[in-house]
Amino acid sequence: MSLDRRDFLKITALTALFGLGSASAFKLLSPDEILANVEGAASGQLGMVIDMELFQTPTTIENVIEACNRAHNVPSIDNTKHEIKWIWTEKYENAFPENTSEHLSEELKAKPFLVLCNHCDHPACVRVCPTQATFKRKSDGIVQMDYHRCIGCRFCMAACPYGSRSFNWENPRKYIKDVNPDYPTRTIGVVEKCNFCIERIERGLKPACVDASEGAMVFGKLDDPDSAVRAALATNYAVTRKTDLGTGPNVYYIIGGQEHA
Ligand code: SF4
Ligand code: SF4
Repeated sequence: MSLDRRDFLKITALTALFGLGSASAFKLLSPDEILANVEGAASGQLGMVIDMELFQTPTTIENVIEACNRAHNVPSIDNTKHEIKWIWTEKYENAFPENTSEHLSEELKAKPFLVLCNHCDHPACVRVCPTQATFKRKSDGIVQMDYHRCIGCRFCMAACPYGSRSFNWENPRKYIKDVNPDYPTRTIGVVEKCNFCIERIERGLKPACVDASEGAMVFGKLDDPDSAVRAALATNYAVTRKTDLGTGPNVYYIIGGQEHA
């Protein structure tokens, strides 16, 4: 299932209703122009598998988040309304609301789930961006951002069903202790999110979070039967988040904890 013109118009109407973008003067692209910008699944689509069973301690999860934050100059802002999140934790019922129940095991209720951008096959965020500041790369399916083109309308934030995007309500540079000179800092008024470590994989490295995960996360090409992601998916039951929405997430979860009496 993919989003169609009616979905696009619905999202546009909703964002207008919420007043998003009202402060920015710009010409909206027509639905045809925006739909022409959407690729669908890319040929060499990259994906990730997160095995929540393999996270032995909360420290490893903290290390994963810290590795991403350090690599990408993600500011540490205490005000939850202004915080910037590339990878963070959610409770099971928030991460997988369609698969929860009132009789959820205590183990699952207590477990923190790592969440990030899913680099979707049919990214709702790309469909609604009026300036093509966010786009899906044909070569590897990464949903990337051009911070310079972002006009801060936040249509993409309203459209993303995973809350994967954050908005810089204030100057983020004030909240970065040690700036990593290898990655650009952002400015006030710009949206940002996980970039699948595009700057690392182009140098032949794994994403920073995967490197810090002590083997609990794997990354690679989903169309390569010999890749680590395919091996993990071939031998485990794995799920994606909010699959019914038709966005086609490319981050998979091995949830575990499925013992029976
Ligand atoms: S998770 Fe959200 S921000 Fe990421 S590609 Fe999908 S719709 Fe876009
Ligand atoms: S893939 Fe890279 S940018 Fe995305 S959450 Fe992991 S470390 Fe952060």
